[in-house]
Amino acid sequence: MADFKNKFSWSISQDRTFQTCKRKYYLNRYGSWGGWDKNSDELTRKIYILKNQATIPMLVGDVVHQTISKILDSLKARKTWDIGYSQKHAVRLFKDGWKQSKNEEWVQDPKRKKNLFEHYYDSTPSEEDLVEVGDSIKNTVENFYSSESFKFIKTSRPVDWLSKEELGEFKVAGETVYCKIDFAVKHEDLVYLYDWKTGKKISEDERQLAVYSLYAVNKWAVDLGSIRLFDVYLKTNTPLTIRASQKLVEETQQYIEKSIKEMKSLLDHPDENIASIDKFPMIENKNICKHCSFKEICYPDNFKEL
Ligand code: SF4
Repeated sequence: MADFKNKFSWSISQDRTFQTCKRKYYLNRYGSWGGWDKNSDELTRKIYILKNQATIPMLVGDVVHQTISKILDSLKARKTWDIGYSQKHAVRLFKDGWKQSKNEEWVQDPKRKKNLFEHYYDSTPSEEDLVEVGDSIKNTVENFYSSESFKFIKTSRPVDWLSKEELGEFKVAGETVYCKIDFAVKHEDLVYLYDWKTGKKISEDERQLAVYSLYAVNKWAVDLGSIRLFDVYLKTNTPLTIRASQKLVEETQQYIEKSIKEMKSLLDHPDENIASIDKFPMIENKNICKHCSFKEICYPDNFKEL
């Protein structure tokens, strides 16, 4: 562990956090560092626990992604799971996470056991709302089965599958950029990259796909013209398709470079990746804080009133 250092890196989710609230970015990337150790100081351990907290929509996203991954594994093994089996699997994963959170199993294992914001901050949904969550998980899984993307994947050969939920990395401006493509497959001369979405469309989604195309060019040495990018919104079963153009890739590259520069400008020692909390201001809009896992850290005396 001697050379286990907190190294600077960039990802679309880190950028999203940085753009939302600099303090949240600091707590995630620096304040929580070392908190995996049960013997770390109380504040670091608490920040680490809150960093690993999830909301119910995040847990839904997680269980749907895990289920799709299993559906694809079974397809590869020629043992296709049927819809009903997959729906039950997804709901069971959700219930497992819910139970872990309710029983506070995360106290011992904050990384692997779910800690739901709704339990922690006492905003547990009603029984009716939970039934709706279960229905929405089942609908989402059903929509995956009927999506054009899955129909297409079923026609592909597993030998042409390039990636399934693998963490990839490449360099921009000398820094490591991480990305995780839900699924990538080669077909004839084209490469298809997929991202499954369980939430609504947001403005950064296209940028996320553009980051994937940068990764694909670096990893598989493919031409931009042969990359097809898909966001599949599983709630409504509407895909967003974009072509990876030179312009899009250049804009994305410039965006990442600018974002890296901004992040590093707040560090005490950019080369050593050392940061101080005071340089990362808290956001003024308390409506955002109200839904933030770190509100107990930022507003220790009045987070319940936010
Ligand atoms: S509670 Fe507010 S100020 Fe604190 S990290 Fe979250 S969003 Fe930022």
